Amino acid sequence: MQRATVGNVELLALSDMVGKYVVAEKYPDVADQMADFQGLFDDRGRMAMNFGCFLVRGDGKTVLVDTGFGPEMNGKLIEQLDEVGVKPEDIDTIVFTHLHGDHTGWALDRDTNAPRFSKAQYLVPKKDWDFYKAEDPQRPGFTRNILPIEGNEALELVDGERTVTPSLTILPTPGHTPGHQSLLLSSGGQQAFIIGDAFMSPMDLVHPDWVSTWDWDAEIVRGTRTALGDRIAQSQALVASAHLPNPGLGHILVTDGKRSWQALPE
Ligand SMILES: [Zn+2]
Repeated sequence: MQRATVGNVELLALSDMVGKYVVAEKYPDVADQMADFQGLFDDRGRMAMNFGCFLVRGDGKTVLVDTGFGPEMNGKLIEQLDEVGVKPEDIDTIVFTHLHGDHTGWALDRDTNAPRFSKAQYLVPKKDWDFYKAEDPQRPGFTRNILPIEGNEALELVDGERTVTPSLTILPTPGHTPGHQSLLLSSGGQQAFIIGDAFMSPMDLVHPDWVSTWDWDAEIVRGTRTALGDRIAQSQALVASAHLPNPGLGHILVTDGKRSWQALPE
Protein backbone atom coordinates (compact mmCIF):
# COMPACT_ATOMS: atom_id res chain seq x y z
CA MET A 1 0.00 0.00 0.00
CA GLN A 2 1.29 3.44 -0.83
CA ARG A 3 -0.19 6.84 -0.12
CA ALA A 4 0.21 9.95 -2.25
CA THR A 5 -1.46 13.33 -2.18
CA VAL A 6 -2.55 15.31 -5.20
CA GLY A 7 -3.40 18.81 -4.03
CA ASN A 8 -6.11 18.34 -1.41
CA VAL A 9 -6.93 14.79 -2.46
CA GLU A 10 -5.51 11.56 -1.07
CA LEU A 11 -4.64 8.77 -3.50
CA LEU A 12 -4.06 5.31 -2.01
CA ALA A 13 -2.57 2.45 -4.02
CA LEU A 14 -4.00 -0.90 -2.92
CA SER A 15 -2.91 -4.30 -4.21
CA ASP A 16 -5.38 -7.17 -4.52
CA MET A 17 -2.61 -9.61 -5.44
CA VAL A 18 0.58 -10.04 -7.44
CA GLY A 19 0.88 -12.69 -10.16
CA LYS A 20 3.46 -13.70 -12.76
CA TYR A 21 3.20 -14.23 -16.49
CA VAL A 22 5.51 -15.40 -19.26
CA VAL A 23 6.24 -12.25 -21.19
CA ALA A 24 7.08 -13.87 -24.54
CA GLU A 25 3.67 -15.55 -24.60
CA LYS A 26 1.85 -12.31 -23.94
CA TYR A 27 3.86 -10.17 -26.38
CA PRO A 28 4.50 -12.74 -29.16
CA ASP A 29 5.07 -10.15 -31.93
CA VAL A 30 8.03 -8.53 -30.13
CA ALA A 31 9.35 -11.44 -28.08
CA ASP A 32 12.76 -11.19 -29.80
CA GLN A 33 13.10 -7.44 -29.06
CA MET A 34 13.13 -7.50 -25.28
CA ALA A 35 16.86 -7.45 -24.54
CA ASP A 36 16.59 -4.07 -22.78
CA PHE A 37 14.02 -5.40 -20.33
CA GLN A 38 15.64 -8.62 -19.10
CA GLY A 39 16.06 -7.06 -15.66
CA LEU A 40 12.26 -7.19 -15.27
CA PHE A 41 12.08 -10.97 -15.88
CA ASP A 42 12.88 -13.93 -13.65
CA ASP A 43 14.94 -16.93 -14.85
CA ARG A 44 11.81 -18.42 -16.48
CA GLY A 45 11.05 -15.30 -18.48
CA ARG A 46 8.22 -14.24 -16.20
CA MET A 47 7.34 -10.72 -15.14
CA ALA A 48 5.58 -9.90 -11.89
CA MET A 49 2.20 -8.27 -12.42
CA ASN A 50 0.48 -6.27 -9.74
CA PHE A 51 -3.32 -6.22 -9.60
CA GLY A 52 -3.85 -2.78 -8.16
CA CYS A 53 -6.87 -0.69 -7.21
CA PHE A 54 -6.89 2.98 -6.19
CA LEU A 55 -8.81 4.74 -3.49
CA VAL A 56 -9.39 8.46 -3.99
CA ARG A 57 -10.45 10.51 -0.97
CA GLY A 58 -11.31 14.16 -1.41
CA ASP A 59 -14.18 16.58 -2.02
CA GLY A 60 -15.96 14.76 0.83
CA LYS A 61 -16.19 11.59 -1.27
CA THR A 62 -14.53 8.18 -1.26
CA VAL A 63 -14.05 6.69 -4.72
CA LEU A 64 -12.63 3.26 -5.49
CA VAL A 65 -11.17 2.68 -8.95
CA ASP A 66 -11.40 -1.01 -9.93
CA THR A 67 -12.13 -3.92 -7.62
CA GLY A 68 -9.30 -6.42 -8.23
CA PHE A 69 -9.37 -10.12 -9.06
CA GLY A 70 -11.66 -11.03 -6.21
CA PRO A 71 -12.30 -13.85 -3.75
CA GLU A 72 -11.60 -16.69 -6.21
CA MET A 73 -7.99 -15.47 -6.44
CA ASN A 74 -7.65 -14.96 -2.71
CA GLY A 75 -7.44 -11.22 -3.29
CA LYS A 76 -6.63 -8.83 -0.47
CA LEU A 77 -8.55 -5.73 -1.48
CA ILE A 78 -11.16 -5.86 1.27
CA GLU A 79 -8.45 -6.42 3.91
CA GLN A 80 -6.43 -3.54 2.50
CA LEU A 81 -9.44 -1.25 2.64
CA ASP A 82 -10.02 -2.33 6.23
CA GLU A 83 -6.40 -1.46 7.10
CA VAL A 84 -7.04 2.14 6.08
CA GLY A 85 -10.32 2.22 7.96
CA VAL A 86 -12.62 1.95 4.94
CA LYS A 87 -15.55 -0.44 4.95
CA PRO A 88 -17.31 -1.41 1.72
CA GLU A 89 -20.37 0.66 2.69
CA ASP A 90 -18.18 3.77 3.14
CA ILE A 91 -17.48 3.98 -0.59
CA ASP A 92 -19.56 6.48 -2.55
CA THR A 93 -18.52 5.57 -6.08
CA ILE A 94 -16.89 2.63 -7.84
CA VAL A 95 -15.31 3.42 -11.20
CA PHE A 96 -14.30 0.52 -13.44
CA THR A 97 -11.55 1.34 -15.90
CA HIS A 98 -12.80 -1.64 -17.91
CA LEU A 99 -14.69 -4.87 -17.42
CA HIS A 100 -11.96 -7.53 -17.44
CA GLY A 101 -12.29 -10.01 -14.58
CA ASP A 102 -9.14 -8.77 -12.81
CA HIS A 103 -10.76 -5.34 -12.34
CA THR A 104 -14.25 -6.41 -11.32
CA GLY A 105 -13.59 -9.29 -8.89
CA TRP A 106 -14.97 -7.79 -5.68
CA ALA A 107 -17.85 -5.87 -7.27
CA LEU A 108 -20.63 -8.15 -6.06
CA ASP A 109 -21.41 -10.17 -2.97
CA ARG A 110 -21.10 -13.79 -4.13
CA ASP A 111 -23.94 -15.02 -1.91
CA THR A 112 -26.55 -12.46 -2.93
CA ASN A 113 -25.21 -11.04 -6.22
CA ALA A 114 -25.95 -7.59 -4.73
CA PRO A 115 -23.35 -4.81 -4.97
CA ARG A 116 -20.70 -5.52 -2.29
CA PHE A 117 -20.14 -1.76 -1.94
CA SER A 118 -23.74 -1.35 -0.93
CA LYS A 119 -24.03 2.44 -0.95
CA ALA A 120 -21.89 3.09 -4.01
CA GLN A 121 -22.82 4.11 -7.48
CA TYR A 122 -21.15 1.79 -10.03
CA LEU A 123 -19.77 3.67 -13.02
CA VAL A 124 -19.33 1.13 -15.82
CA PRO A 125 -18.00 1.92 -19.31
CA LYS A 126 -20.95 1.48 -21.66
CA LYS A 127 -18.94 0.26 -24.63
CA ASP A 128 -17.45 -2.53 -22.49
CA TRP A 129 -20.87 -3.43 -21.11
CA ASP A 130 -22.32 -3.69 -24.62
CA PHE A 131 -19.30 -5.59 -25.98
CA TYR A 132 -18.96 -8.18 -23.22
CA LYS A 133 -22.69 -8.66 -22.91
CA ALA A 134 -22.88 -9.47 -26.63
CA GLU A 135 -19.95 -11.93 -26.59
CA ASP A 136 -20.97 -15.52 -27.18
CA PRO A 137 -20.07 -17.23 -24.99
CA GLN A 138 -19.76 -14.52 -22.35
CA ARG A 139 -16.61 -14.55 -20.22
CA PRO A 140 -16.99 -15.96 -16.72
CA GLY A 141 -15.44 -12.79 -15.26
CA PHE A 142 -18.26 -10.78 -16.83
CA THR A 143 -21.21 -13.07 -16.11
CA ARG A 144 -20.11 -13.64 -12.52
CA ASN A 145 -18.66 -10.25 -11.54
CA ILE A 146 -20.76 -7.68 -13.36
CA LEU A 147 -23.79 -8.89 -15.32
CA PRO A 148 -25.98 -9.58 -12.25
CA ILE A 149 -26.01 -5.82 -11.53
CA GLU A 150 -28.14 -5.27 -14.65
CA GLY A 151 -31.31 -3.43 -13.67
CA ASN A 152 -29.91 -2.39 -10.28
CA GLU A 153 -30.22 1.34 -9.62
CA ALA A 154 -26.52 1.43 -8.58
CA LEU A 155 -25.46 0.83 -12.18
CA GLU A 156 -24.67 3.76 -14.44
CA LEU A 157 -23.28 3.20 -17.92
CA VAL A 158 -20.72 5.86 -18.81
CA ASP A 159 -19.99 6.85 -22.38
CA GLY A 160 -17.35 9.55 -22.80
CA GLU A 161 -16.11 12.10 -20.29
CA ARG A 162 -17.89 12.30 -16.97
CA THR A 163 -17.24 14.28 -13.81
CA VAL A 164 -17.06 12.02 -10.73
CA THR A 165 -16.16 14.66 -8.13
CA PRO A 166 -15.01 18.27 -8.64
CA SER A 167 -11.41 17.02 -8.84
CA LEU A 168 -11.94 13.68 -10.61
CA THR A 169 -12.98 13.19 -14.23
CA ILE A 170 -13.37 10.07 -16.37
CA LEU A 171 -11.64 10.20 -19.78
CA PRO A 172 -12.16 7.64 -22.57
CA THR A 173 -8.91 5.76 -23.35
CA PRO A 174 -10.07 2.90 -25.59
CA GLY A 175 -8.03 0.10 -27.11
CA HIS A 176 -7.21 -2.31 -24.30
CA THR A 177 -10.97 -2.87 -24.34
CA PRO A 178 -13.64 -1.03 -26.38
CA GLY A 179 -14.72 1.17 -23.47
CA HIS A 180 -11.51 1.40 -21.46
CA GLN A 181 -11.46 4.63 -19.44
CA SER A 182 -8.92 6.47 -17.30
CA LEU A 183 -9.35 9.18 -14.67
CA LEU A 184 -7.75 12.57 -14.36
CA LEU A 185 -7.34 13.79 -10.80
CA SER A 186 -6.69 17.55 -10.55
CA SER A 187 -6.37 19.40 -7.29
CA GLY A 188 -4.38 22.37 -6.01
CA GLY A 189 -2.40 22.68 -9.25
CA GLN A 190 -1.32 19.02 -9.17
CA GLN A 191 -2.43 16.19 -11.41
CA ALA A 192 -2.55 12.40 -11.48
CA PHE A 193 -3.80 10.02 -14.14
CA ILE A 194 -5.33 6.75 -13.01
CA ILE A 195 -4.77 4.78 -16.17
CA GLY A 196 -6.10 1.25 -15.58
CA ASP A 197 -4.51 -0.95 -18.27
CA ALA A 198 -3.71 1.82 -20.77
CA PHE A 199 -0.09 0.84 -20.07
CA MET A 200 0.34 -2.67 -18.71
CA SER A 201 4.10 -2.90 -18.26
CA PRO A 202 7.16 -0.65 -18.32
CA MET A 203 7.73 -2.07 -21.83
CA ASP A 204 4.68 -0.62 -23.52
CA LEU A 205 5.31 2.66 -21.79
CA VAL A 206 8.67 2.82 -23.61
CA HIS A 207 7.23 1.24 -26.79
CA PRO A 208 3.61 2.39 -27.16
CA ASP A 209 3.41 0.38 -30.39
CA TRP A 210 3.93 -2.95 -28.56
CA VAL A 211 0.65 -4.77 -28.19
CA SER A 212 -0.08 -7.71 -25.93
CA THR A 213 -2.57 -10.54 -26.30
CA TRP A 214 -4.66 -8.86 -23.59
CA ASP A 215 -5.33 -5.86 -25.82
CA TRP A 216 -8.57 -5.72 -27.81
CA ASP A 217 -7.60 -3.54 -30.80
CA ALA A 218 -3.96 -2.99 -31.78
CA GLU A 219 -4.39 0.23 -33.76
CA ILE A 220 -6.68 1.89 -31.22
CA VAL A 221 -4.48 0.90 -28.28
CA ARG A 222 -1.40 2.29 -30.05
CA GLY A 223 -3.16 5.61 -30.67
CA THR A 224 -4.32 5.84 -27.06
CA ARG A 225 -0.90 4.92 -25.65
CA THR A 226 0.86 7.48 -27.80
CA ALA A 227 -1.55 10.32 -27.01
CA LEU A 228 -1.93 9.51 -23.32
CA GLY A 229 1.82 8.95 -22.86
CA ASP A 230 2.53 12.34 -24.47
CA ARG A 231 -0.06 14.07 -22.32
CA ILE A 232 1.24 12.52 -19.10
CA ALA A 233 4.89 13.15 -19.93
CA GLN A 234 4.21 16.81 -20.78
CA SER A 235 2.16 17.42 -17.66
CA GLN A 236 4.63 15.55 -15.41
CA ALA A 237 1.57 14.16 -13.68
CA LEU A 238 1.65 11.30 -11.24
CA VAL A 239 0.60 7.97 -12.80
CA ALA A 240 -1.46 5.34 -11.01
CA SER A 241 -1.41 2.08 -12.96
CA ALA A 242 -3.21 -1.18 -12.26
CA HIS A 243 -0.41 -3.45 -13.46
CA LEU A 244 2.88 -1.56 -13.45
CA PRO A 245 5.10 -2.81 -10.62
CA ASN A 246 3.46 -2.78 -7.18
CA PRO A 247 2.26 -0.34 -5.89
CA GLY A 248 1.84 1.18 -9.34
CA LEU A 249 2.52 4.85 -8.57
CA GLY A 250 5.19 6.77 -10.46
CA HIS A 251 6.10 9.12 -13.25
CA ILE A 252 6.94 8.86 -16.92
CA LEU A 253 10.48 10.13 -17.22
CA VAL A 254 11.69 11.46 -20.56
CA THR A 255 15.47 11.46 -21.06
CA ASP A 256 16.95 12.29 -24.48
CA GLY A 257 13.54 11.66 -26.01
CA LYS A 258 13.29 8.18 -24.47
CA ARG A 259 10.62 7.34 -21.95
CA SER A 260 11.05 5.24 -18.85
CA TRP A 261 9.05 4.41 -15.74
CA GLN A 262 10.16 5.93 -12.48
CA ALA A 263 8.38 4.47 -9.47
CA LEU A 264 7.48 6.90 -6.70
CA PRO A 265 9.90 6.50 -3.79
CA GLU A 266 8.30 4.60 -0.93
ZN1 LIG B 1 -6.01 -5.76 -16.05
